[in-house]
Amino acid sequence: MAAVSPNRSRDHNIAAEDLDGHALDVIQKLNDAGFDAYLVGGCVRDALCGVTPKDFDVATNAKPEEVRALFRRSRLVGRRFPIAHVRYGRNLIEVSTFRQAKHDHIETNAQGLIVKDRAFGDMADDAFRRDFSVNALYFDVNSNEIIDYVGGIEDVAAKRLRFIGDPQERLAEDPVRLLRAMRFAAKLDFTIDPQILNHIEDTAERLEEIPKARLFDEFLKLFLTGHAAPVWLSLKDTPLIRSLFPSCNPDSDLVLDAMRNTDERIAEDMPVTPGFLLAVLLWDDFQARQREQNPDNTPGRAYELAMDTFAIQQQHISLPRRFTLFAREVWQLQTRLEARQPRHINRVVSHKRFRAAFDFLVLRGAHNNKLRNCGEWWQTFQDADQAERKKMIDSIPKGGGKRRRRSRGGKNNNQASANELRSDYNSGFNK
Ligand code: ATP
Ligand code: MG
Repeated sequence: MAAVSPNRSRDHNIAAEDLDGHALDVIQKLNDAGFDAYLVGGCVRDALCGVTPKDFDVATNAKPEEVRALFRRSRLVGRRFPIAHVRYGRNLIEVSTFRQAKHDHIETNAQGLIVKDRAFGDMADDAFRRDFSVNALYFDVNSNEIIDYVGGIEDVAAKRLRFIGDPQERLAEDPVRLLRAMRFAAKLDFTIDPQILNHIEDTAERLEEIPKARLFDEFLKLFLTGHAAPVWLSLKDTPLIRSLFPSCNPDSDLVLDAMRNTDERIAEDMPVTPGFLLAVLLWDDFQARQREQNPDNTPGRAYELAMDTFAIQQQHISLPRRFTLFAREVWQLQTRLEARQPRHINRVVSHKRFRAAFDFLVLRGAHNNKLRNCGEWWQTFQDADQAERKKMIDSIPKGGGKRRRRSRGGKNNNQASANELRSDYNSGFNK
């Protein structure tokens, strides 16, 4: 590989002010210590496309330990291949050492999946082991040149995602690359090489071999980086969605609306959480279980059924507990929000998940008049002052906005609510 001579181009639209000062600082320090260092990957690709890069990666011929020694606020991460994370406050620059492309040092398992990949190389080697041609462009900040070994400049211009090398082989090495393709295509409005799309079926199956924690990270990148709706639309009718979220209904309006809403929130710098998206993606499954196995909506049983929903999902993507807890609380509050029981209203409003649960109710209301009215009631309530709130509560018809179904034993209302509170407590509702 080393004999390949790259195309060097100054014909680009990347201006110094597009670049991150901390990344430039890393490059400067590496240069001062006698190493080569370049911007690489997504930041070069995005800047060429006129999109503000979200993070900056640096590639260098310094070994990970050498990078570590140069930067006080750095640490080495990654088992398969160590890279240095250099921290500047909240900004993180990833510094990776040039590594070899397909090589004896790469260990693959029987299916061709890369399990270990530690051999270092030069820039040409490094370019060829990257996934897409548009992700293998280096920017030399000193000479102001883009360095291209793989036709990436041309592919950026043609808005085309093409693997370096044989698609089947590259996907066999790492099936997650297909999810990356879908994400980059949605984000940059690129077309995916049709040869890649031929392998969706087999690649979807092979995602099962990928560590579930890595798929959680990929889930975050797919749906929490500002392009959730186009990503969702491109995934939902493919077998990939079955591999990621097997119990999710791909045609759910709620999911698509929530994805759009998430993108809007990110565009407006509002907070987003994976817990909310989990609540959305798994809602239909949880609801179906409730209908079949808990028609009386007993809180304790609802808790168990929520855990069943998560257990199925965990077989595909690992879900940190704080996010399943979040989703469950949002679900539990739906009943409360719909019921509008006067004596519960103030407690519901001060619940720490009230805001998320209210947003969830509003999303559900987009295609359901009754729920929309309920959402509007809660909106008005939040906007109201103390006196108006009291009036609103007093004018709720007896039995609440929605009459709760009586539980089977024919208990009177007071008993039912005492039991309900107890189960709520046991299920963590008030914790
Ligand atoms: P973004 O940061 O916008 O998600 P990115 O392309 O920078 O996009 P990263 O995950 O930050 O993606 O990876 C940085 C670079 O490392 C990529 O551009 C690519 O060159 C290389 N890379 C990342 N993941 C893989 C992979 N699975 N296979 C091959 N190369 C990869
Ligand atoms: Mg990146």
